[in-house]
Amino acid sequence: MSTRLSLCVYCGSREGASPAFARAAKAIGEGIARRGWQLVYGGGRAGLMGRVADAALAAGGQVVGVIPRTLMEREVGHAGLTELHVVDTMHQRKRLMAERSDAFIALPGGIGTFEELFEVWTWRQLGYHDKPVGLLNVDGYYDALLGFLGQTVTGGFVSPQQHALLEVAVDPVALLDAVGRLAPRATAPDDYGRI
Ligand code: AMP
Repeated sequence: MSTRLSLCVYCGSREGASPAFARAAKAIGEGIARRGWQLVYGGGRAGLMGRVADAALAAGGQVVGVIPRTLMEREVGHAGLTELHVVDTMHQRKRLMAERSDAFIALPGGIGTFEELFEVWTWRQLGYHDKPVGLLNVDGYYDALLGFLGQTVTGGFVSPQQHALLEVAVDPVALLDAVGRLAPRATAPDDYGRI
């Protein structure tokens, strides 16, 4: 049981096409550190992942990285973290990241980011955890996805309640405030072994 809120950030292993993405990643890293929270992320230096971690560290924050051995080279394992866990598989990475976190947010990213976001959102929907899940819609990057997610409700495959479990914000501070309000401070032991 921990009193320091640990926030898991999923984001691109690339920088993306707009400088707004790196600015938002920096704001999230700094915001986490300034709140006295801990960042949990994929452990790399590459892309937005590196920007979030560097910003949190520069602002005096604690950063926990979890990276599969095979990705140490491609995503460039970050040597300056508070903790870097090198694991054998992607499943171990995602499980440890989920266990170590009290809330999850996704920033702009690619397929890996989507997969991680949808995984923790489905786990929430299934009741495997009760931690908030958020999405930062920087520069309209997720507009089309958010439109489609609305269609999943009108199409009858996702309930309005399930849809509403995803916190969406365009402003980094607003998203941090929202997940901070919703995150259970004293998290019960997780049981991801059931999944
Ligand atoms: P991306 O958004 O594609 O740049 O990936 C962001 C992060 O998600 C990277 O650290 C990937 O290693 C990670 N990731 C997690 N699960 C997957 C997956 N199933 N396929 C690809 N990347 C993944």
